Amino acid sequence: MNLEDPVFKILAETAAKEGTEIYVIGGFVRDLFLKRPSKDIDIVVLGNGIDFAEKVGRKLRSTVSVFKNFGTAMLKYNELEIEFVGARKESYRANSRKPIVENGTLADDQLRRDFTINALAISLNPGNYGEVIDPFNGLEDLENKLIRTPLDPAVTFSDDPLRMMRAIRFATQLDFKIDQVALVAIHTQKERINIVSKERITDELNKIILAKTPSIGFNYLFDTGLLHLIFPQMVKLYGVDTRNGKAHKDNFYHTLQVLDNISQTSDDLWLRWAAILHDIAKPATKRFEEGHGWTFHGHEDKGARMVPQIFAHLKLPLNDKMKFVQKLVLLHLRPIVLAQDKVTDSAVRRLLFEAGNEIESLMLLCQADVTTKNEYKVKKYRNNFELVKQKLKDVEERDQLRNWQPPVTGNDIMQTFGLNAGKEVGLLKNAIREAILEGEISNNYQEAYDFMLEKGKEMGLNPLSE
Ligand code: ATP
Repeated sequence: MNLEDPVFKILAETAAKEGTEIYVIGGFVRDLFLKRPSKDIDIVVLGNGIDFAEKVGRKLRSTVSVFKNFGTAMLKYNELEIEFVGARKESYRANSRKPIVENGTLADDQLRRDFTINALAISLNPGNYGEVIDPFNGLEDLENKLIRTPLDPAVTFSDDPLRMMRAIRFATQLDFKIDQVALVAIHTQKERINIVSKERITDELNKIILAKTPSIGFNYLFDTGLLHLIFPQMVKLYGVDTRNGKAHKDNFYHTLQVLDNISQTSDDLWLRWAAILHDIAKPATKRFEEGHGWTFHGHEDKGARMVPQIFAHLKLPLNDKMKFVQKLVLLHLRPIVLAQDKVTDSAVRRLLFEAGNEIESLMLLCQADVTTKNEYKVKKYRNNFELVKQKLKDVEERDQLRNWQPPVTGNDIMQTFGLNAGKEVGLLKNAIREAILEGEISNNYQEAYDFMLEKGKEMGLNPLSE
């Protein structure tokens, strides 16, 4: 076993000197075998974890943070975060995911771990330094890419239901399968998720969303029935209706495809959330129009209005991130409509004006939204997208419309005509903005001012002085 960092030697020396047994355990060991870089090292101490951490801290001249309530201590050394905990034995009550804790052996401590691959330990002790202690065949599971629990999974998941989310999260991050027995146990224990806080659930959900292929996790969540409990709005996307021989696509699987697509072009959690929510109002706006087929008119509008409720329900932040997602949901059809039609300057100008700084994200979302299997259509969209992008660039360079404010302000209008704030000012402002976006006048003060005078005259307004 290869523990390259010199810090392991220092830990081992301290352990030998103190006559204390210590082991590296959990995620760090798992990631070592998977060759995934990891900066968090968990050390299990057969004895008092805090005392031992303080001894190591003195040797490394590092400050030790002590969490008395948890019986743990942590220190930072170079890039690494090392956490120390005494070996423990845990038992659970029905109404809480917080266990009753007592001192235990290494075997007890490994038995309290959620998955076999997370229960691997490596000795840092003189007699068997570097030896892997693997009581549940975790190494074999790593080899077979399998998430399995050391104990009966029904008990493991009922004791601490967050582990159901963790199982799915690890399966997604590592591209592993969940063992069949464990999968059935998640299905039967799913209602237990209700004792876990929304924040913790969403924390795991976000990790699933940030994985390379998030659909792996969403398929598990859906198939086990967990998604129905934690995020019912998304489940409503599932299913296909057929009438008069006309079917619409399954919007659940379409959404997963869009999410996987965007995950290839962006690591931004919020852009990925926009992908998840872009069609969220399709079930609520679905209609069958005779002679035409299925329609989802206004789903972008309604979807944008649903975003705050969904964010609140999932305890996601109700801040500018939410506004970003809302904006993208609202505008998600715009580039594709453009790309279907003739791409006019004024349509591009409008899009740029409305999307502002979000234009690049919007274009990425829209490209990810093309999930048709029809090669001809894919090619057509791709070509038109290139055209839209080129036009966006041209218009942007020429008109500087990003975060744009019209050159004549409401104040200018009020001063020119001696008006108080009111309807007429709004009408004039609107007319000037529209004229610029439509390309009737150029985006500069003089043309906008002249246009304002002319429009004002039409409305029966006279400037105070010429
Ligand atoms: P990552 O850092 O990617 O989240 P990790 O495995 O290090 O992975 P942590 O949440 O830091 O995850 O947990 C560290 C270790 O503690 C795990 O490897 C596992 O052994 C144990 N553990 C964490 N949470 C639980 C839990 N809910 N039930 C049982 N064991 C757990």
